[in-house]
This record gives sequence, structure tokens and C-alpha cells, in this order.
Amino acid sequence: MKKKKNLVAKLRLGIQVFFLVLIASISLNHSLSAYGISIPFVGSASLHAVCPFGGVVSLYQLATVGSLVKKVHEASLVLMGIAFFLVILVGPAFCGWVCPLGTVEELIGKIGRRMFKKKYNTFIPASMDKYLRYLRYGVLVWVVYVTATTMQLVFADYDPYYALFNFWTGEVPLTAMVILALTLIGSLFIERPFCKYGCPYGALLGLFNKVRIFTIRRNASTCIDCKACDRACPMNIQVSTAGAVRDHQCITCLKCTSEAACPVSETVELMAGTFTVKTLEGVSREKEGAK
Ligand code: SF4
Ligand code: SF4
Repeated sequence: MKKKKNLVAKLRLGIQVFFLVLIASISLNHSLSAYGISIPFVGSASLHAVCPFGGVVSLYQLATVGSLVKKVHEASLVLMGIAFFLVILVGPAFCGWVCPLGTVEELIGKIGRRMFKKKYNTFIPASMDKYLRYLRYGVLVWVVYVTATTMQLVFADYDPYYALFNFWTGEVPLTAMVILALTLIGSLFIERPFCKYGCPYGALLGLFNKVRIFTIRRNASTCIDCKACDRACPMNIQVSTAGAVRDHQCITCLKCTSEAACPVSETVELMAGTFTVKTLEGVSREKEGAK
């Protein structure tokens, strides 16, 4: 059963597009400044200022060596602080609602879904996929170790996020361009391939799914086992067999919930204990019922 786009989905798309435009503007402004042109409101911002992962590695280096990593702006520490407050509360919402690379992967995925219909996002055999999902933890350990020992943001040489917003500058290393190309092409077949297999920041945030306060919960007593939630999940999580979703890959996109994919109301919800987060649609439905 296909539901019409709910208010939460529209709000999420709006936030995603806002950050995509913001980061693209900051990056473009950086290039235009060489010609004395400045985009209003983003004039003094740096692309590194909006990289929370720079904040993570820099914080590690600050604790071990006593200085920030070169090129990392103090603002990225602030952004990292906000991302960590959010992740403890609701999990990796940064990945599902803010990250512009994730947004671009998701937008290309919409084309892939049209091309391959139900086969989309099922091309990697589950037996192989479950091991590939841990690759990003290897990347995380490598990035933190090499960055802390060299005091350089080495991941920039491999980072598709950096490549996406700088490919026209001639400053992006070939390795990063190749990884960006693989990510964009891969998104036609697999939903969010870089998020699933390669992103060190997503790996770090994903660990908080084990302890986050608000989790996605399924009410087994009202579930009709239609598996619509499983089909909707971009990260291929089996919501239909979970009580609470504690999978390290959840990005809090809320696509599986009763406001989106699940056809039974109050069956898949964002909850902390017995407290349920009332989404905009849920609140407006309640108001209509009370009239
Ligand atoms: S489990 Fe639900 S909230 Fe988490 S990634 Fe899947 S669809 Fe999104
Ligand atoms: S939780 Fe909802 S969408 Fe998932 S299997 Fe049960 S009824 Fe279907």
C-alpha cells in the first residue's frame, strides 16, 4: 500500500535541501572569492567549518597532542557538539536529515528506484552485505589513527564529501574523485552506498544507536507482518522482526514509521520508554479527531 508523502517526509526533505544548498553555496563562494565575488550570508564561512568529522579527529588530537588538526575550523567542533547532542537523543539524525552527501545519494537513489523498481537496493547478496557493513569501522580506525599521527586531515584525499563540493577547483585528489564517482554511480543500484560501507563519521554516529534515548519501536501486537517497513528502510534493516531498532546502520529517517510506510497506526514509532514522539501528522490527526 502506497501512502501519500507525510509531513515528516516533507520536513526532512526541506531540511536536507536547505543544508545541500548551504554547503554548495559556501563552497561556491570560496571559489568566487578569487574573483572578488561574495554570496550574501555565506561570505566569511569556510567549508571546513561545516565538517563535523573534522571536529571529531581534531578533538582526538587536541586530547592527545594539544592542538587542532590543520584546516579544521573551531566551528566544526561546535557542529560536532550539536551532532553528538542529537545522536544521544535520537540517533544519527545528522546522516538522515542533514548530511548533503547522503542527500545526493538519496536523490540519485530515487532514479535507481524508478529504473529497477523492487530490485533496487537488493543487488548485494545479504550474506556478503552483512560483513561489508563493518567496513566503515575499519575506515574510522584508519582515519583517526593516521590523522592523529600526521596532524593532517588525510581523509580529504579520499573524501567524496570534499570532492562533491570542490570537484571544479582542480584541488581534489584523483582518489577522492574516483570514490565520489563510485558513490554516485553506486547510488543508482544501492541506497546510500557510502553511508553503508564507507563513511567513518556515520560509523561513529551509528554506535550511538545502541544507547540512544528515542528509538524506533515496533508494536508486535498490532503488526500485520506485511513487511512494508522493511521495504521502506534505505539501510535494509529488518524492522518487521525488531522490537526496538538498535541496528548500528539506522539513520533515523523515519521512513519505516506508521506516519510513512507502516499501514497500521501507532505500530512503528519513535519512542523513549512509553513516551511517543508525536509527529506533525499525528498531532494534526489528533486535533481533527477532537473536533
Ligand atoms: S529503521 Fe526506520 S528510521 Fe532507521 S534507517 Fe530504517 S527506515 Fe530509517
Ligand atoms: S510493523 Fe507495520 S509495516 Fe512492518 S510488518 Fe508490521 S504492520 Fe507491516
